[in-house]
Amino acid sequence: MKKWTLSNVWTKYRLDALDYIQVCANCNQASCWLGEFYCDSAKTADVVGRSVRDLLKLGPLEHPEYWLKARIKRTRIDDGPLTGVTK
Ligand SMILES: [Zn+2]
Repeated sequence: MKKWTLSNVWTKYRLDALDYIQVCANCNQASCWLGEFYCDSAKTADVVGRSVRDLLKLGPLEHPEYWLKARIKRTRIDDGPLTGVTK
């Protein structure tokens, strides 16, 4: 998979480092939460908010287009990470 960077997800999708994306807590993929792909724990896993910056550090594990569909309203840097976002 193409190596996405903060610079090119911003240029192409206007995804900021501190945009939060709802992802499956088990596999860290929005496509799982969106129902386009299910990991083994999809039925029981929580949904969590992770920043674009953190998701890029993980791989990324999936195409950033999925993140656009699962984006949470941007949070301020001092809001801290979102936790406990539920379906
Ligand atoms: Zn999953």
